[in-house]
Amino acid sequence: PVRVRFCPSPTGNPHVGLVRTALFNWAFARHHGGTLVFRIEDTDAARDSEDSYNQLLESMRWLGFDWDEGPEVGGPHAPYRQSQRMDIYKDVAEKLLAGGYAYHCYCTTEELDSRRDAARAAGRPSGYDGHCRDLTAEQTAAYEAEGRTSIVRFRMPDEALTFDDLVRGELTFQPENVPDYGIVRANGAPLYTLVNPVDDALMEITHVLRGEDLLSSTPRQLALYKALIELGIAKDTPAFGHLPYVMGEGNKKLSKRDPQASLNLYRERGFLPEGLLNYLSLLGWSIAEDRDIFSIDEMVAAFDIADVNANPARFDLKKCEHINAEHIRKMDVKAFTEACGPWLKAPFAPWAPESFDAEQFAEIAPHAQTRVTVLSDITANVDFLFLDEPTTDEASWNKAMKEGSDALLTTARAKLAEAEWNADALKNAILAAGEEHGLKLGKAQAPVRVAVTGRTIGLPLFESLEILGREKTLARVDAALA
Ligand code: GLU
Repeated sequence: PVRVRFCPSPTGNPHVGLVRTALFNWAFARHHGGTLVFRIEDTDAARDSEDSYNQLLESMRWLGFDWDEGPEVGGPHAPYRQSQRMDIYKDVAEKLLAGGYAYHCYCTTEELDSRRDAARAAGRPSGYDGHCRDLTAEQTAAYEAEGRTSIVRFRMPDEALTFDDLVRGELTFQPENVPDYGIVRANGAPLYTLVNPVDDALMEITHVLRGEDLLSSTPRQLALYKALIELGIAKDTPAFGHLPYVMGEGNKKLSKRDPQASLNLYRERGFLPEGLLNYLSLLGWSIAEDRDIFSIDEMVAAFDIADVNANPARFDLKKCEHINAEHIRKMDVKAFTEACGPWLKAPFAPWAPESFDAEQFAEIAPHAQTRVTVLSDITANVDFLFLDEPTTDEASWNKAMKEGSDALLTTARAKLAEAEWNADALKNAILAAGEEHGLKLGKAQAPVRVAVTGRTIGLPLFESLEILGREKTLARVDAALA
């Protein structure tokens, strides 16, 4: 049975790269009817906070992910927070030491640095040189007597390591590029290099799908797995697949600190989880040629790790917005109306709740649904309904109110005053007003729109006027003429 894991460190607000990793693991698990294990890699007490942990869980739920084992769900391999599994790592480290798979290394940082510099200068591989690999009992005793502390280092095999990456195909690592590496700090704290594969082994993970940035740790983990199997701690080695890098602006790797990378930013702007996930799924994968828009269920049905592309993917905010807009269009209008809720409240909408009118909003919502890209666009698009006076966007005003616009507005006002109050009649009124001044509809409606909504761009005008009502519309045209 397929068992995959999503195992972030809970540091701050999740970034889109992390979300993509979660998505591919989740989709893989669901596609195969497997198990998704959610594990929190919080062994770095200095960086990990309870607050980030809560934020992470909340974000995962907002995105719509569920997990079969993990925090708050439990499971046969609990606990799923590494900070609560320290005894396990200590025990495994002791077994590795006892079996000769790992050893104490007494080298100081200065010694390591100076030997590394010398190796570089001589053109030799500059990784750890195996200095403490085979210390005699006397040498060890001497170091201890000096009062040196030691880290635990894993002994890498002296042969090339080959594995078949699910995304990249066969990869080979030469031993000189993968030197012995630390697994426990001098203060006894276990490192990622140990805890991550140990937990993958104990939690019986079958497929490790993670970012390409972790590719260099894979040969180390394969060697460690071999030791764990020999020690009877692991059953099998999992398959590994490394998801392509995500590139941001200027073709540089999208970094966690990049504002474009922050999940919270997408939430604040009102992306739909489905829209965002649809877009993120395209970072390295595709459902079919010429097809960008699909539901999460369609993705799950089609997802195959063999279709993931090894080439770096480019993060394209415009495309992300476009896809989100398509998902907004597809919503049930009632769901859309409800989803707008947060942006019709403080702090986004200063006029709420006093002048917000849910019925009027329900009338305008279907027109907004065809126009907005993200839900937060709603605020500026409907504020003309709820503000006593429309917002006055100076640029819009300057653009629309030119010579002749007063004359046009005067004619339009007279025709609007007599028109029946429905969108068709209002359109005809403005069309007729325009004709009198030699203006096409587009030019004729611009000053009316700015007078009434305060902006040059907005929702369909005649429907907007219909919903706003005759009295307010005429008063605003009068105010513009005053
Ligand atoms: N906690 C690690 C990270 O967030 C997990 C890496 C892995 O998937 O092995 O980078």
